[in-house]
Amino acid sequence: MTERSFDHQKLSNRILIALVLGLLTGVLLNVTVADQPWVREWLLDGLFRVVGEGFVRFLSMLVVPIVFVSLITGVSSLSDPATLGRVGGKAIGLYMVTTGIAITLALLAATLVQPGVGANPEVLIEREIREVPPFTQVLIDMVPRNPVEAMAQGAMLPTIVFAILLGLAISFAGEPGSRVASFFRDFNEVIMRLVGIVMLIAPYGVFALIATLGATTGLSTFAGVLKYVLLVLAMLIVHATVVYPLLLKLLTGLSPIVFYRQIRDPLAFAFSTASSGATIPVTLRAVQQRLGVSNRVSSFTVPLGATINMDGTAIMQGIATGFIAQYFGVDLSFTQYLMVVLLVILASVGTAGVPGVGLVLLAGVLVQVGLPVEGIALILGVDRILDMTRTAVNVTGDALVSTVVARSEGEFDEAIFLSRAAASP
Ligand code: ASP
Repeated sequence: MTERSFDHQKLSNRILIALVLGLLTGVLLNVTVADQPWVREWLLDGLFRVVGEGFVRFLSMLVVPIVFVSLITGVSSLSDPATLGRVGGKAIGLYMVTTGIAITLALLAATLVQPGVGANPEVLIEREIREVPPFTQVLIDMVPRNPVEAMAQGAMLPTIVFAILLGLAISFAGEPGSRVASFFRDFNEVIMRLVGIVMLIAPYGVFALIATLGATTGLSTFAGVLKYVLLVLAMLIVHATVVYPLLLKLLTGLSPIVFYRQIRDPLAFAFSTASSGATIPVTLRAVQQRLGVSNRVSSFTVPLGATINMDGTAIMQGIATGFIAQYFGVDLSFTQYLMVVLLVILASVGTAGVPGVGLVLLAGVLVQVGLPVEGIALILGVDRILDMTRTAVNVTGDALVSTVVARSEGEFDEAIFLSRAAASP
Protein backbone atom coordinates (compact mmCIF):
# COMPACT_ATOMS: atom_id res chain seq x y z
CA MET A 1 0.00 0.00 0.00
CA THR A 2 1.55 3.30 -1.00
CA GLU A 3 1.57 6.40 1.14
CA ARG A 4 -0.89 8.10 -1.15
CA SER A 5 -3.41 5.30 -1.41
CA PHE A 6 -3.33 5.01 2.33
CA ASP A 7 -4.38 8.67 2.51
CA HIS A 8 -7.21 7.95 0.15
CA GLN A 9 -8.46 5.25 2.50
CA LYS A 10 -8.22 7.63 5.43
CA LEU A 11 -10.19 10.27 3.53
CA SER A 12 -13.03 7.80 2.92
CA ASN A 13 -13.19 7.09 6.62
CA ARG A 14 -13.20 10.78 7.44
CA ILE A 15 -16.12 11.35 5.08
CA LEU A 16 -18.15 8.66 6.81
CA ILE A 17 -17.22 9.99 10.24
CA ALA A 18 -18.25 13.49 9.10
CA LEU A 19 -21.62 12.09 8.07
CA VAL A 20 -22.26 10.56 11.47
CA LEU A 21 -20.93 13.59 13.39
CA GLY A 22 -23.03 15.90 11.21
CA LEU A 23 -26.13 13.93 12.02
CA LEU A 24 -25.41 13.95 15.75
CA THR A 25 -24.65 17.68 15.75
CA GLY A 26 -27.80 18.43 13.75
CA VAL A 27 -30.06 16.43 16.05
CA LEU A 28 -28.42 17.99 19.09
CA LEU A 29 -29.00 21.49 17.70
CA ASN A 30 -32.56 20.51 16.82
CA VAL A 31 -33.45 19.62 20.38
CA THR A 32 -31.58 22.55 21.93
CA VAL A 33 -30.86 25.89 20.27
CA ALA A 34 -31.93 25.48 16.62
CA ASP A 35 -34.80 27.96 17.10
CA GLN A 36 -32.61 30.78 18.35
CA PRO A 37 -32.29 33.53 15.73
CA TRP A 38 -28.51 33.73 16.11
CA VAL A 39 -28.13 30.00 15.48
CA ARG A 40 -30.19 30.26 12.32
CA GLU A 41 -28.48 33.38 11.08
CA TRP A 42 -24.87 32.60 11.93
CA LEU A 43 -24.71 28.85 11.87
CA LEU A 44 -27.44 27.24 9.77
CA ASP A 45 -27.92 29.99 7.18
CA GLY A 46 -24.37 31.23 7.69
CA LEU A 47 -21.38 28.98 8.18
CA PHE A 48 -23.04 25.63 7.45
CA ARG A 49 -24.73 26.97 4.35
CA VAL A 50 -21.53 28.44 2.91
CA VAL A 51 -19.56 25.25 3.56
CA GLY A 52 -22.33 22.86 2.46
CA GLU A 53 -23.52 24.66 -0.63
CA GLY A 54 -20.00 25.72 -1.52
CA PHE A 55 -18.96 22.09 -1.49
CA VAL A 56 -21.86 21.08 -3.76
CA ARG A 57 -20.81 23.90 -6.10
CA PHE A 58 -17.28 22.56 -6.25
CA LEU A 59 -18.62 19.16 -7.22
CA SER A 60 -21.00 20.60 -9.81
CA MET A 61 -18.13 22.64 -11.22
CA LEU A 62 -16.35 19.41 -12.13
CA VAL A 63 -19.24 17.60 -13.75
CA VAL A 64 -19.21 19.00 -17.28
CA PRO A 65 -15.40 19.04 -17.70
CA ILE A 66 -15.07 15.52 -16.36
CA VAL A 67 -17.87 14.06 -18.45
CA PHE A 68 -16.61 15.77 -21.58
CA VAL A 69 -12.92 14.96 -21.25
CA SER A 70 -13.37 11.49 -19.86
CA LEU A 71 -15.88 10.47 -22.52
CA ILE A 72 -13.69 11.73 -25.35
CA THR A 73 -10.74 9.83 -23.87
CA GLY A 74 -12.84 6.69 -23.58
CA VAL A 75 -14.44 6.78 -27.01
CA SER A 76 -11.32 7.80 -28.88
CA SER A 77 -9.45 4.82 -27.41
CA LEU A 78 -11.96 2.32 -28.80
CA SER A 79 -10.39 0.55 -31.71
CA ASP A 80 -13.75 -0.52 -33.03
CA PRO A 81 -16.85 1.71 -32.99
CA ALA A 82 -19.07 -1.39 -32.90
CA THR A 83 -17.86 -1.86 -29.30
CA LEU A 84 -19.40 1.48 -28.40
CA GLY A 85 -22.75 0.37 -29.82
CA ARG A 86 -22.57 -2.88 -27.87
CA VAL A 87 -21.57 -1.19 -24.60
CA GLY A 88 -24.30 1.41 -25.08
CA GLY A 89 -26.92 -1.22 -25.86
CA LYS A 90 -26.03 -3.32 -22.83
CA ALA A 91 -25.92 -0.32 -20.48
CA ILE A 92 -29.22 1.17 -21.62
CA GLY A 93 -30.88 -2.26 -21.55
CA LEU A 94 -29.65 -2.98 -18.02
CA TYR A 95 -30.60 0.48 -16.78
CA MET A 96 -34.12 -0.08 -18.00
CA VAL A 97 -34.36 -3.59 -16.54
CA THR A 98 -33.21 -2.45 -13.07
CA THR A 99 -35.66 0.47 -13.14
CA GLY A 100 -38.40 -1.92 -14.29
CA ILE A 101 -37.72 -4.23 -11.34
CA ALA A 102 -37.69 -1.25 -8.95
CA ILE A 103 -41.00 0.22 -10.04
CA THR A 104 -42.73 -3.17 -10.14
CA LEU A 105 -41.61 -4.00 -6.60
CA ALA A 106 -42.70 -0.56 -5.42
CA LEU A 107 -46.19 -0.86 -6.88
CA LEU A 108 -46.56 -4.32 -5.36
CA ALA A 109 -45.47 -3.02 -1.97
CA ALA A 110 -47.83 -0.03 -2.18
CA THR A 111 -50.75 -2.32 -3.04
CA LEU A 112 -50.01 -4.73 -0.23
CA VAL A 113 -49.20 -2.25 2.55
CA GLN A 114 -51.70 0.49 1.55
CA PRO A 115 -49.74 3.41 3.03
CA GLY A 116 -52.37 5.98 1.91
CA VAL A 117 -55.22 4.45 3.88
CA GLY A 118 -55.70 6.48 7.04
CA ALA A 119 -52.92 8.94 6.20
CA ASN A 120 -53.21 12.40 7.65
CA PRO A 121 -50.49 14.68 6.27
CA GLU A 122 -49.64 17.75 8.27
CA VAL A 123 -48.44 20.22 5.72
CA LEU A 124 -49.30 21.47 2.29
CA ILE A 125 -46.22 23.32 1.16
CA GLU A 126 -46.44 25.42 -1.97
CA ARG A 127 -43.84 24.54 -4.50
CA GLU A 128 -43.57 25.02 -8.18
CA ILE A 129 -44.17 21.80 -10.05
CA ARG A 130 -42.56 21.94 -13.45
CA GLU A 131 -43.91 20.11 -16.47
CA VAL A 132 -42.18 16.97 -17.72
CA PRO A 133 -41.29 17.37 -21.41
CA PRO A 134 -42.89 14.84 -23.81
CA PHE A 135 -40.66 11.95 -24.84
CA THR A 136 -40.40 13.14 -28.46
CA GLN A 137 -38.94 16.41 -27.19
CA VAL A 138 -36.49 14.49 -25.02
CA LEU A 139 -35.24 12.70 -28.14
CA ILE A 140 -34.86 15.94 -30.09
CA ASP A 141 -33.14 17.65 -27.17
CA MET A 142 -30.49 14.94 -27.13
CA VAL A 143 -28.89 16.65 -30.11
CA PRO A 144 -27.22 19.87 -29.05
CA ARG A 145 -28.10 22.93 -31.09
CA ASN A 146 -24.81 24.33 -29.89
CA PRO A 147 -22.41 22.20 -27.84
CA VAL A 148 -21.13 25.16 -25.85
CA GLU A 149 -24.68 26.08 -24.90
CA ALA A 150 -25.39 22.49 -23.83
CA MET A 151 -22.29 22.45 -21.65
CA ALA A 152 -22.98 25.91 -20.25
CA GLN A 153 -26.41 24.71 -19.17
CA GLY A 154 -25.00 21.46 -17.83
CA ALA A 155 -27.40 19.51 -20.06
CA MET A 156 -26.03 16.00 -19.78
CA LEU A 157 -27.49 14.08 -22.72
CA PRO A 158 -26.53 16.58 -25.48
CA THR A 159 -23.08 16.92 -23.92
CA ILE A 160 -22.71 13.13 -23.99
CA VAL A 161 -23.83 12.98 -27.63
CA PHE A 162 -21.34 15.67 -28.68
CA ALA A 163 -18.45 14.09 -26.75
CA ILE A 164 -19.14 10.67 -28.28
CA LEU A 165 -19.19 12.07 -31.82
CA LEU A 166 -16.01 14.05 -31.23
CA GLY A 167 -14.35 10.99 -29.72
CA LEU A 168 -15.31 8.90 -32.76
CA ALA A 169 -14.01 11.56 -35.12
CA ILE A 170 -10.72 11.61 -33.21
CA SER A 171 -10.35 7.86 -33.52
CA PHE A 172 -11.02 8.01 -37.28
CA ALA A 173 -8.67 10.94 -37.92
CA GLY A 174 -5.34 9.10 -38.17
CA GLU A 175 -2.20 10.95 -37.13
CA PRO A 176 -3.82 14.30 -36.14
CA GLY A 177 -6.47 12.31 -34.28
CA SER A 178 -3.92 10.45 -32.23
CA ARG A 179 -2.23 13.73 -31.24
CA VAL A 180 -5.58 15.12 -30.04
CA ALA A 181 -6.34 11.81 -28.27
CA SER A 182 -3.08 11.94 -26.37
CA PHE A 183 -3.85 15.49 -25.26
CA PHE A 184 -7.22 14.37 -23.90
CA ARG A 185 -5.63 11.37 -22.16
CA ASP A 186 -3.31 13.74 -20.30
CA PHE A 187 -6.12 16.17 -19.62
CA ASN A 188 -8.15 13.34 -18.14
CA GLU A 189 -5.38 12.54 -15.68
CA VAL A 190 -5.22 16.20 -14.66
CA ILE A 191 -8.97 16.41 -14.10
CA MET A 192 -8.92 13.29 -11.96
CA ARG A 193 -6.33 15.06 -9.82
CA LEU A 194 -8.69 17.99 -9.56
CA VAL A 195 -11.39 15.68 -8.25
CA GLY A 196 -8.87 14.51 -5.65
CA ILE A 197 -8.31 18.12 -4.56
CA VAL A 198 -12.01 18.81 -4.17
CA MET A 199 -12.36 15.58 -2.20
CA LEU A 200 -10.11 17.06 0.46
CA ILE A 201 -12.86 19.43 1.60
CA ALA A 202 -15.52 16.72 1.35
CA PRO A 203 -15.66 15.86 5.06
CA TYR A 204 -16.47 19.49 5.94
CA GLY A 205 -19.08 19.76 3.19
CA VAL A 206 -20.75 16.52 4.17
CA PHE A 207 -20.76 17.54 7.83
CA ALA A 208 -22.37 20.92 7.08
CA LEU A 209 -25.05 19.47 4.79
CA ILE A 210 -26.11 16.73 7.17
CA ALA A 211 -25.96 18.92 10.29
CA THR A 212 -28.26 21.49 8.65
CA LEU A 213 -30.71 18.79 7.69
CA GLY A 214 -30.70 17.31 11.20
CA ALA A 215 -31.18 20.72 12.80
CA THR A 216 -34.05 21.83 10.57
CA THR A 217 -36.16 18.70 10.11
CA GLY A 218 -39.11 18.62 12.48
CA LEU A 219 -40.21 15.14 13.48
CA SER A 220 -43.90 16.09 13.49
CA THR A 221 -43.76 16.45 9.69
CA PHE A 222 -43.40 12.70 9.49
CA ALA A 223 -46.29 11.69 11.73
CA GLY A 224 -49.20 11.68 9.28
CA VAL A 225 -47.29 10.05 6.46
CA LEU A 226 -45.04 7.81 8.51
CA LYS A 227 -46.24 4.64 6.80
CA TYR A 228 -45.35 6.11 3.41
CA VAL A 229 -41.88 7.20 4.57
CA LEU A 230 -41.12 3.85 6.18
CA LEU A 231 -42.37 1.90 3.18
CA VAL A 232 -40.22 3.91 0.73
CA LEU A 233 -37.18 3.50 2.98
CA ALA A 234 -37.85 -0.23 3.40
CA MET A 235 -38.16 -0.80 -0.35
CA LEU A 236 -35.02 1.23 -1.03
CA ILE A 237 -33.19 -0.98 1.43
CA VAL A 238 -34.65 -4.15 -0.15
CA HIS A 239 -33.54 -2.98 -3.57
CA ALA A 240 -30.03 -2.18 -2.34
CA THR A 241 -29.52 -5.26 -0.19
CA VAL A 242 -31.41 -7.94 -2.12
CA VAL A 243 -31.98 -6.99 -5.77
CA TYR A 244 -28.58 -5.44 -6.48
CA PRO A 245 -26.51 -8.12 -4.72
CA LEU A 246 -28.47 -10.84 -6.53
CA LEU A 247 -27.94 -9.17 -9.89
CA LEU A 248 -24.24 -8.66 -9.19
CA LYS A 249 -23.74 -12.25 -8.10
CA LEU A 250 -25.74 -13.70 -10.99
CA LEU A 251 -24.28 -11.53 -13.72
CA THR A 252 -20.65 -11.25 -12.59
CA GLY A 253 -20.02 -13.65 -9.71
CA LEU A 254 -18.41 -10.80 -7.74
CA SER A 255 -18.88 -10.24 -4.02
CA PRO A 256 -21.58 -7.67 -3.17
CA ILE A 257 -19.86 -6.90 0.13
CA VAL A 258 -16.64 -5.91 -1.60
CA PHE A 259 -18.69 -3.97 -4.16
CA TYR A 260 -20.33 -1.87 -1.45
CA ARG A 261 -17.05 -1.36 0.38
CA GLN A 262 -15.50 0.06 -2.77
CA ILE A 263 -18.30 2.52 -3.51
CA ARG A 264 -18.79 4.01 -0.09
CA ASP A 265 -17.44 7.42 -1.19
CA PRO A 266 -20.06 7.98 -3.91
CA LEU A 267 -22.71 6.60 -1.55
CA ALA A 268 -21.85 9.15 1.12
CA PHE A 269 -21.75 11.94 -1.46
CA ALA A 270 -25.04 10.95 -3.06
CA PHE A 271 -26.68 10.80 0.34
CA SER A 272 -25.36 14.19 1.45
CA THR A 273 -25.99 16.08 -1.79
CA ALA A 274 -29.17 14.31 -3.02
CA SER A 275 -27.84 14.71 -6.54
CA SER A 276 -26.51 11.86 -8.65
CA GLY A 277 -25.42 14.49 -11.20
CA ALA A 278 -23.21 16.37 -8.74
CA THR A 279 -21.83 13.03 -7.55
CA ILE A 280 -20.62 12.02 -11.06
CA PRO A 281 -16.97 13.00 -10.44
CA VAL A 282 -16.83 10.90 -7.26
CA THR A 283 -18.74 7.99 -8.82
CA LEU A 284 -16.45 7.96 -11.83
CA ARG A 285 -13.38 7.99 -9.65
CA ALA A 286 -14.63 5.13 -7.47
CA VAL A 287 -15.88 3.05 -10.40
CA GLN A 288 -12.50 3.33 -12.11
CA GLN A 289 -10.08 3.29 -9.22
CA ARG A 290 -11.88 1.06 -6.76
CA LEU A 291 -14.20 -1.18 -8.72
CA GLY A 292 -11.72 -1.65 -11.56
CA VAL A 293 -13.95 -0.64 -14.48
CA SER A 294 -11.96 0.75 -17.42
CA ASN A 295 -12.26 4.37 -18.48
CA ARG A 296 -13.59 3.18 -21.85
CA VAL A 297 -16.70 1.73 -20.26
CA SER A 298 -17.19 3.93 -17.18
CA SER A 299 -16.75 7.27 -18.95
CA PHE A 300 -19.86 6.30 -20.87
CA THR A 301 -21.95 4.31 -18.39
CA VAL A 302 -21.56 6.58 -15.34
CA PRO A 303 -22.73 9.92 -16.79
CA LEU A 304 -25.39 8.10 -18.78
CA GLY A 305 -26.59 6.33 -15.65
CA ALA A 306 -26.67 9.55 -13.64
CA THR A 307 -29.10 10.86 -16.23
CA ILE A 308 -31.24 7.94 -17.30
CA ASN A 309 -31.03 5.49 -14.42
CA MET A 310 -33.04 6.27 -11.32
CA ASP A 311 -34.05 3.08 -9.56
CA GLY A 312 -34.46 4.70 -6.16
CA THR A 313 -36.56 7.44 -7.69
CA ALA A 314 -38.71 4.82 -9.42
CA ILE A 315 -39.36 3.18 -6.05
CA MET A 316 -40.50 6.46 -4.54
CA GLN A 317 -42.73 7.16 -7.55
CA GLY A 318 -44.39 3.76 -7.43
CA ILE A 319 -45.16 3.99 -3.74
CA ALA A 320 -46.19 7.65 -3.99
CA THR A 321 -48.61 6.87 -6.84
CA GLY A 322 -50.18 4.12 -4.76
CA PHE A 323 -50.25 6.40 -1.70
CA ILE A 324 -51.93 9.28 -3.52
CA ALA A 325 -54.49 6.99 -5.19
CA GLN A 326 -55.35 5.43 -1.84
CA TYR A 327 -55.54 8.79 -0.09
CA PHE A 328 -58.03 10.09 -2.66
CA GLY A 329 -59.88 6.76 -2.71
CA VAL A 330 -59.11 6.01 -6.38
CA ASP A 331 -58.78 2.37 -7.49
CA LEU A 332 -56.09 1.98 -10.14
CA SER A 333 -56.75 -0.53 -12.91
CA PHE A 334 -54.19 -3.03 -14.17
CA THR A 335 -53.71 -0.92 -17.32
CA GLN A 336 -53.00 2.13 -15.17
CA TYR A 337 -50.41 0.15 -13.22
CA LEU A 338 -48.75 -0.88 -16.46
CA MET A 339 -48.79 2.71 -17.59
CA VAL A 340 -47.08 3.81 -14.39
CA VAL A 341 -44.34 1.22 -14.98
CA LEU A 342 -43.72 2.41 -18.54
CA LEU A 343 -43.94 6.10 -17.71
CA VAL A 344 -41.53 5.86 -14.82
CA ILE A 345 -38.96 4.03 -16.95
CA LEU A 346 -39.25 6.50 -19.82
CA ALA A 347 -39.66 9.68 -17.79
CA SER A 348 -36.34 9.26 -16.00
CA VAL A 349 -34.48 9.24 -19.33
CA GLY A 350 -34.66 12.94 -20.06
CA THR A 351 -34.24 14.37 -16.59
CA ALA A 352 -31.00 15.14 -14.84
CA GLY A 353 -30.16 13.69 -11.44
CA VAL A 354 -30.62 16.75 -9.26
CA PRO A 355 -32.33 17.13 -5.91
CA GLY A 356 -36.08 16.79 -6.00
CA VAL A 357 -36.40 15.91 -9.67
CA GLY A 358 -38.22 12.72 -8.69
CA LEU A 359 -41.20 14.80 -7.61
CA VAL A 360 -41.30 16.59 -10.95
CA LEU A 361 -41.39 13.25 -12.70
CA LEU A 362 -44.09 12.10 -10.33
CA ALA A 363 -46.25 15.04 -11.41
CA GLY A 364 -46.06 13.77 -15.00
CA VAL A 365 -46.97 10.25 -13.96
CA LEU A 366 -49.95 11.42 -11.91
CA VAL A 367 -51.32 13.50 -14.79
CA GLN A 368 -51.05 10.57 -17.19
CA VAL A 369 -52.93 8.15 -14.95
CA GLY A 370 -55.50 10.78 -14.03
CA LEU A 371 -54.64 11.30 -10.37
CA PRO A 372 -54.70 14.79 -8.81
CA VAL A 373 -51.28 16.44 -9.10
CA GLU A 374 -51.98 18.31 -5.86
CA GLY A 375 -51.42 14.92 -4.23
CA ILE A 376 -47.71 15.73 -4.38
CA ALA A 377 -48.24 18.34 -1.67
CA LEU A 378 -49.03 15.46 0.69
CA ILE A 379 -45.50 14.13 0.54
CA LEU A 380 -43.45 17.28 -0.17
CA GLY A 381 -42.62 17.93 3.45
CA VAL A 382 -40.87 14.61 3.91
CA ASP A 383 -39.23 14.35 0.53
CA ARG A 384 -35.73 15.56 1.31
CA ILE A 385 -34.74 12.62 3.48
CA LEU A 386 -36.20 10.19 0.93
CA ASP A 387 -34.45 12.09 -1.85
CA MET A 388 -31.09 11.59 -0.16
CA THR A 389 -31.65 7.90 0.34
CA ARG A 390 -32.98 7.21 -3.14
CA THR A 391 -30.10 9.14 -4.70
CA ALA A 392 -27.68 6.76 -2.97
CA VAL A 393 -29.65 3.88 -4.52
CA ASN A 394 -29.59 5.57 -7.94
CA VAL A 395 -25.82 5.89 -7.78
CA THR A 396 -25.42 2.27 -6.65
CA GLY A 397 -27.37 1.22 -9.75
CA ASP A 398 -25.03 3.24 -11.97
CA ALA A 399 -21.96 1.59 -10.42
CA LEU A 400 -23.53 -1.85 -10.64
CA VAL A 401 -24.44 -1.61 -14.32
CA SER A 402 -20.99 -0.19 -15.10
CA THR A 403 -19.42 -3.22 -13.40
CA VAL A 404 -21.65 -5.74 -15.17
CA VAL A 405 -21.06 -4.20 -18.59
CA ALA A 406 -17.31 -3.90 -18.04
CA ARG A 407 -17.01 -7.50 -16.85
CA SER A 408 -18.84 -8.79 -19.91
CA GLU A 409 -16.61 -6.72 -22.21
CA GLY A 410 -13.27 -7.75 -20.67
CA GLU A 411 -12.87 -4.15 -19.44
CA PHE A 412 -12.76 -5.04 -15.77
CA ASP A 413 -9.73 -5.39 -13.51
CA GLU A 414 -10.48 -7.77 -10.67
CA ALA A 415 -7.23 -6.99 -8.86
CA ILE A 416 -8.39 -3.39 -8.36
CA PHE A 417 -11.83 -4.59 -7.25
CA LEU A 418 -10.28 -6.78 -4.59
CA SER A 419 -7.70 -4.30 -3.37
CA ARG A 420 -8.47 -2.35 -0.22
CA ALA A 421 -6.87 0.86 -1.45
CA ALA A 422 -7.24 2.95 -4.56
CA ALA A 423 -5.21 1.74 -7.51
CA SER A 424 -3.85 5.14 -8.35
CA PRO A 425 -4.01 8.56 -6.75
N1 ASP B 1 -32.17 13.43 -6.48
C1 ASP B 1 -32.24 12.26 -7.32
C2 ASP B 1 -30.95 12.07 -8.06
O1 ASP B 1 -30.21 12.98 -8.25
C3 ASP B 1 -33.38 12.33 -8.25
C4 ASP B 1 -34.66 12.34 -7.47
O2 ASP B 1 -35.15 11.26 -7.15
O3 ASP B 1 -35.18 13.40 -7.16
O4 ASP B 1 -30.62 10.98 -8.48
